Amino acid sequence: MGATGGVASTLNEKFDASPWPRVCEKFRQEFGQHAFSRWLGQLGYNGIDGGTAELTAPTKFVRDWIQSHYAPRLKDFFSAEDPQVKALSIRLCTSAAASPNGNKASAGENASIAHSPATVGSRADESSALDPKYTFDSFVVGKSNELAYAAAKRISESDDVAFNPLFLHGGVGLGKTHLMHAIAWETKRNNPNKRIVYISAEKFMFEFIAALRFKDTHAFKQKFRAVDLLMVDDVQFIANKESTQEEFFHTFNALVDNRCQVVITADRSPTDLEGIQERIISRLGWGLVADIHPTDYELRLGILQSKAEQSKNVEVPAEVLEFLARRITSNVRELEGALNRVLAYATLVGRPITMDMTRDVLQDLIRANDRKLTIDEIQRAVADYFNLRLAEMLSERRARTIARPRQIAMYLSKQLTSRSLPEIGRRFGGRDHTTVMHAVRKIEDLRRDDSQLDEDITRLGRLLEG
Ligand code: ADP
Ligand code: MG
Repeated sequence: MGATGGVASTLNEKFDASPWPRVCEKFRQEFGQHAFSRWLGQLGYNGIDGGTAELTAPTKFVRDWIQSHYAPRLKDFFSAEDPQVKALSIRLCTSAAASPNGNKASAGENASIAHSPATVGSRADESSALDPKYTFDSFVVGKSNELAYAAAKRISESDDVAFNPLFLHGGVGLGKTHLMHAIAWETKRNNPNKRIVYISAEKFMFEFIAALRFKDTHAFKQKFRAVDLLMVDDVQFIANKESTQEEFFHTFNALVDNRCQVVITADRSPTDLEGIQERIISRLGWGLVADIHPTDYELRLGILQSKAEQSKNVEVPAEVLEFLARRITSNVRELEGALNRVLAYATLVGRPITMDMTRDVLQDLIRANDRKLTIDEIQRAVADYFNLRLAEMLSERRARTIARPRQIAMYLSKQLTSRSLPEIGRRFGGRDHTTVMHAVRKIEDLRRDDSQLDEDITRLGRLLEG
């Protein structure tokens, strides 16, 4: 690619030119690691636009705090790196309302685009915006993402093309963008001369349209084809955008033919992408397709522990982390947001974090994540709790040691689900609704006088509801 060497080196300079890592470093030196991870570390950097350094904050609280405590110094840090910077803007990044099935321009997509404009652009202010927080080190691996992680690692470590393309897919907020940035950082570290482009599919499209309008498609093509590693985030965005797809496909083919590594993400698998041409879909599936599954409890807890460790001055009790891992199941972005909210609140009011505080601060989130309990789960939990086999508890036996837990399970089914008495009866070995009603009344009565039983039920309720 000798002819395009000039372009390539500019790409590299731009990649390096982001002031953000150095601003972060200065901040750390002046205010310390703790202030960094608590405050600045939560911000996303969006680039510099018309002399304004653009940052995004996850919550209003973080934004206001930074505005009132650090904004002037931050602006100085930016100006020292880039004298053109005259102002600072901190916007809220729209929280990722987790709706994987939502429309194409979901909040999640916007958020990832906001965090990550192209590393390379036609204008100087679009230079690198890789998030310094998104590295392999900060990525917690579990069953649901180990394949995606291993593939991403492999790509950043190997010199030849391992699989082309690598297609990562999974729901909103599960770490696709994080992995892409990590690939970029790691590749850069292993091989500083590699030309890397990271771009959201949306941005790819806008640049392409601009190139069409200014009749500059040649430069556009050259730019994207003069790279060693091209990463396009959220390609579902170009579904139904015919000419963008066409250009994307040509770029993609040219790169693959040149043995350049391509990495692509989408919110669904290649075969589930609607409105994208068949031949593109089939070619996307040629390399390695790795999906990121929803997180399980262990992974969520692992992620929370690793984040909590970073906030050195505030102790987060284990039970709070466990509570969050159990209750915030939608996606990792929301999970992080929840922890950050609790941390911010504790700092603000200057009190240690407790369960009560957590429940209070996160009321809305917890409600939104409320999982519908099933009768089956209740039965299992109760049987477990009283050391019975499930079949035994549902049997006809009337011995008190079995009948009482059965009644408790019926009672909890009534309290914690919206099932009717007849439905509950059916699920308890085809019993009559009057039996269920009797059980509910019985337990209500007993609870008043029998403190042991009352405690058992409270505990069971807590177990079931988190
Ligand atoms: P996606 O691009 O899939 O929508 P992101 O990569 O933007 O999701 O991830 C959302 C947030 O969750 C980011 O802050 C990211 O760092 C974090 N995250 C996701 N998965 C993990 C993980 N396995 N370990 C640590 N952080 C994670
Ligand atoms: Mg993303």
